[in-house]
Amino acid sequence: MFDLIIRDARLSDEQRVDIAVLDGKIAAIGDVQGKAKSERNLAGRYYLSAGWIDSHVHCYPKSPIYHDEADAIGVNHGVTTVIDAGSTGAQHIDDFYQLTRAAQTQVYALINIARTGIVTQNELADMTQIDGPAVEQAVARLPDFIVGLKARMSSSVVGENGIQPLIKAKAIQKAVGDLPLMVHIGNNPPDLDEIADLLTSGDIITHCYNGKPNRILTPQGELKAAVKNALARGVRLDVGHGSASFSFDVARVAIAQGILPDSISSDIYCRNRLNGPVHNLAHVMSKFFSVGMTLPQVIDCVTWKAADGLRLTHKGRLEVGFDADLTIFTVKEEAHPFVDSEGERVEGEKHLIPLAAVVAGEWILTEEGKANVSTI
Ligand SMILES: [Zn+2]
Repeated sequence: MFDLIIRDARLSDEQRVDIAVLDGKIAAIGDVQGKAKSERNLAGRYYLSAGWIDSHVHCYPKSPIYHDEADAIGVNHGVTTVIDAGSTGAQHIDDFYQLTRAAQTQVYALINIARTGIVTQNELADMTQIDGPAVEQAVARLPDFIVGLKARMSSSVVGENGIQPLIKAKAIQKAVGDLPLMVHIGNNPPDLDEIADLLTSGDIITHCYNGKPNRILTPQGELKAAVKNALARGVRLDVGHGSASFSFDVARVAIAQGILPDSISSDIYCRNRLNGPVHNLAHVMSKFFSVGMTLPQVIDCVTWKAADGLRLTHKGRLEVGFDADLTIFTVKEEAHPFVDSEGERVEGEKHLIPLAAVVAGEWILTEEGKANVSTI
């Protein structure tokens, strides 16, 4: 007897399968025989994927600048797992951990290399805030919560320190046993070339399609050599849309050259959720249909590719034994306006609507699903 069977679900590659869940894990997939305590039949009408993972969010509720509630950015919109990208450093990360245990959304953290995290806009302007031993102790205390490190390497954050905080971050990364390091890029100094040269396999560049002058493309629209070399070494690209870090133009030109993101993430927090241009992860994902990506490519970037980047080894795949985190959604073929962080408006032809999430086997309707409750 399974806990849950979802029948006749449509996958992003248009295959149709049943999925059975037992004890919070995927127990069977394909043509499932047997019974369950609860059954749902999607009748081939609705899509299902591994639970969506947002690789870059901000949800430390006590952050004075970038705060939000995990479920408001998570399961309410079909996102089963969120990774907070450096809202907290060693000083607040235990508090953050405690505050997010009651959420239905599964929350992980990238610890900010600055002790204070993002309580100010310039947490790396004072090098004495970068405290390697404090990061090591935090990782030792919360090994299942802290999945990597975060360093924000743009001029407003690092002040006069240039590339120095990143050199420190790489040393801390070695000391904690080589967790992924996510590096935010923005205005220079430091120059992106200098940043990219220091990154190694598994490191993540976030805000990868930002439209600022220090972007991944040259003025001629070619990928900068230092970024090309970094990607060849195994450095990964994360979207991190945010209020100021996504340009349709940069994404369009890059994707046309085959420079696809490894993970599509929102950089969401309460303000860009409520006022845009982020709104929710589905909204950000939908923008990628307008810049040349297919449904399977978009879904891969919030499932197995996101899980691989952050080494969430039991998530992101519809395979027996993996966590039973699932997202049920539909693709609506209708004109829908989208705006990037530069103010460019694009009329999309289709968009994603998340209807339900399953977290560790439990069925949770999204806000959109509640509005369509009779159909699912
Ligand atoms: Zn961010």
